[in-house]
Amino acid sequence: LGKAQRSPYALYRPELDRHSLVRLALMSELKGAVEQGQLSLYFQPKLDIRQRCLMGVECLVRWIHPVHGFVPPDEFIPLAEQTGNVCALTRWVVRTALAQSRAWQEQGLALKTAVNVSALDLADPGFAGFIAAQLAEHAVPPGSLVVEITESAVMADPEQALGQLQQLCELGVRLSIDDYGTGYSSMAQLKRLPVHELKIDKSFVLDLLSNPDDDIIVRSTVELGHNMGLKVVAEGVETDAVLQRLDQLGCDIAQGYLLSKPLAPVAFAEWLAKTHW
Ligand code: C2E
Ligand code: CA
Ligand code: CA
Ligand code: CA
Repeated sequence: LGKAQRSPYALYRPELDRHSLVRLALMSELKGAVEQGQLSLYFQPKLDIRQRCLMGVECLVRWIHPVHGFVPPDEFIPLAEQTGNVCALTRWVVRTALAQSRAWQEQGLALKTAVNVSALDLADPGFAGFIAAQLAEHAVPPGSLVVEITESAVMADPEQALGQLQQLCELGVRLSIDDYGTGYSSMAQLKRLPVHELKIDKSFVLDLLSNPDDDIIVRSTVELGHNMGLKVVAEGVETDAVLQRLDQLGCDIAQGYLLSKPLAPVAFAEWLAKTHW
């Protein structure tokens, strides 16, 4: 027996080992998941608060594993990053999202389509070029694509990331800072980035009405964003009361279960058909 296996933790906490075995198995299967069509893209609507109309969607990836069933993205995206599969995953997401965006366009729907990208995508010198080629291939106007990035993704390799973001910006793609407020970056960082949108993390939005600190944070983020000429989005909007408060605070866009949870393509089409805004 190796040292690690003699550790008391291996005896007392077998559930950890089982869990890591599943993780290992999933890691090795991720590449196949992209290739074998086990991924699915879900869509969550974004509401223009003032106009009370649908302005866009966020695309969120789902992995329906043949044995383990639904694997949450919070679990497999980090695995994809560790195994170097996340760039292939992002490319699949972008292709699928732009094909859908094109289809909406043909139905006369002008929806801004947002995708999430990881640090490794921004470190890839070919990333902006890939996006440009995909926009051309699907004939989607660059302004219809929103790329959501987290502050930590930018901080992983700021020079490389800034180069890619600058190129995306020059193409006319819109950039959004995701999970705003949870990273360690500052206004100084924000000033260096060619962004169009701030997305306030749901941890500040969920309890907006009961937590005075959250109210202050949301209010000052809206003010900061507007002073910098940015649109401000709140995610995690679950109640009508929170939506009303966001409206009072001048927040521009809302996303959350109140409007709809992320929906599979067919369910989203049905939702579109019956929604009034
Ligand atoms: P995120 O980008 O911050 O996405 C928002 C998450 O909040 C989504 O979780 C969404 O389902 C959830 N959410 C939306 N509305 C509400 C609400 O009203 N209340 C609550 N409690 N939650 C809400 P999801 O889909 O599980 O995704 C988790 C994370 O996984 C995402 O966080 C994102 O970081 C990552 N992710 C998802 N899809 C992709 C992808 O295609 N590429 C990459 N790189 N990351 C992705
Ligand atoms: Ca996001
Ligand atoms: Ca977010
Ligand atoms: Ca998040």
